Amino acid sequence: MSFVLDCPNCGSREVTDFGFGGEVTTRPTGRPEFKELNRYVYFRDNKAGVQREWWVHRAGCGEWFLAERDTRTNEVIWTARPADAPPARAAAASEGAPR
Ligand SMILES: [Zn+2]
Repeated sequence: MSFVLDCPNCGSREVTDFGFGGEVTTRPTGRPEFKELNRYVYFRDNKAGVQREWWVHRAGCGEWFLAERDTRTNEVIWTARPADAPPARAAAASEGAPR
């Protein structure tokens, strides 16, 4: 399985140039309860649908950036530096639903 990602510095490259940094998570605020901290550190949504992810251009410039990708099809919707990323959108009702 292969697809192309757009590095904000280098442009389009094969996914094998990049390292996957995992889905974007929300850091707990304040002093979290043990259960909340445990969920933040160890659990992921593993969504079947569009999710926001961290990627690093491992074989290139080394930049960390964000991407939105459909995990069912590997369609990359956009990539951007964190400061340039569009605001997170509310999850659509159809996201994650089986096709
Ligand atoms: Zn790059």
